[in-house]
Amino acid sequence: MIKVVKFGGSSLASAEQFRKVKDIVNADKKRRYVVPSAPGKRHKNDVKVTDMLYECYALAEAEGEFKPLLRKIRARYNEIINGLKLNMSLDEEFKVIEENFIQKAGIDYAASRGEYLNGLIMSRYTGFEFIDAAEVVRFRKDGSFDADTTNKILRERLKKSQTAVIPGFYGAQENGHVKTFSRGGSDITGSVVAKACKADLYENWTDVSGFLVADPGIIENPKGIKVITYKELRELSYMGAAVLHEDAIFPVRREGIPINIKNTNEPEDPGTFIVESTCQKPEYTITGIAGKKGFVAVNIEKDMMNSEIGFGRKVLAAFEENQISFEHTPSGIDTFTVFVHQEEFEGKEQSVLSAIHRLAEPDSIDLEADLALIAVVGRGMKSTRGTAGRIFSALAHANVNVRMIDQGSSELNVIIGVSNEDFEQAIKAIYDIFVVTRL
Ligand code: ASP
Repeated sequence: MIKVVKFGGSSLASAEQFRKVKDIVNADKKRRYVVPSAPGKRHKNDVKVTDMLYECYALAEAEGEFKPLLRKIRARYNEIINGLKLNMSLDEEFKVIEENFIQKAGIDYAASRGEYLNGLIMSRYTGFEFIDAAEVVRFRKDGSFDADTTNKILRERLKKSQTAVIPGFYGAQENGHVKTFSRGGSDITGSVVAKACKADLYENWTDVSGFLVADPGIIENPKGIKVITYKELRELSYMGAAVLHEDAIFPVRREGIPINIKNTNEPEDPGTFIVESTCQKPEYTITGIAGKKGFVAVNIEKDMMNSEIGFGRKVLAAFEENQISFEHTPSGIDTFTVFVHQEEFEGKEQSVLSAIHRLAEPDSIDLEADLALIAVVGRGMKSTRGTAGRIFSALAHANVNVRMIDQGSSELNVIIGVSNEDFEQAIKAIYDIFVVTRL
């Protein structure tokens, strides 16, 4: 049995955190492959090493004075090395990095050094072999991630190593040119490693004890989610509840490997299990509530719209022309509404409206701004009668006016549109009815 363990930046920000991590790794012999992030924030106002590297490289590229900042980065690592009393030095590594910065080795190379150096420390500290991700995680010439080649190379390489540290976040093209995933991408590396060694479990260690039923900024001490399916998570993360990089789901999901989100600072907490499917009954009818403010509803009306072939396509083409993605498209018999992000839409508003007029010739278009969308998600909703009824009566009691309803055909979620002002109140009302009162 193999477990792959990935540790996030806050779990590796200091010597003290490294000690916790080693205890966790040593506590279970199945934890054979470790994927570290770069050192994150030690406290709220701290700066992540990855951000320091981006800034430092920008200076180098502009031929500015980048060395003082590089020394600051080195100090972050030295603090960890000295705190752990390790007999090692990264001085030679930093010489190479400095030289490569002068040679303008690229922004991805620069950012990747955060994980690379942390991986070297982790390897020395745990005694696990160091495997440079540049050798085993492959990107194509066009910069996209090459999952198949990576899987082949990585699987062969891991077979030769009983225990190893593989730094997260980066890989390389065939010619050795370093590439990174998008921000937070160490989660993806962990998933890719889990797939390659056919792990039984992918543990993703962070600084929270898994997912919460609702945002703690809105609900005081919300309950944790014990088990969530990949599909439910998609519905929730889609609305902004991301603890895990979205792309980290795909490699393990196909292999049926569960992900366990765990808390480095509270290792006894069970955390959240993310699974393909489960017959475990959820604790509450709903698994989670997530939402986001700042949407605009573009309401398009046209008589006899329902019998006009291609109307929807023409309307959506107007958004596509303007490079705007849409969130939802609830429709009525003669109306078609498109929900878009206000930020994205504002600057292009008039250009979208004229495109809709040109392409779809509607009778009228009307805009409604400052709306919030709330997703109520749960695999338990399908088998429970009256869920929608309970949501809406709770909202009515809380004096929240519902502006839009959209139930996905999977019956996994109900999306509710309210005004920005009612957002928090609406979430509280829904949480209360399902979790506190347990209706
Ligand atoms: N260090 C990278 C970042 O800050 C990747 C990661 O932590 O997953 O985005």
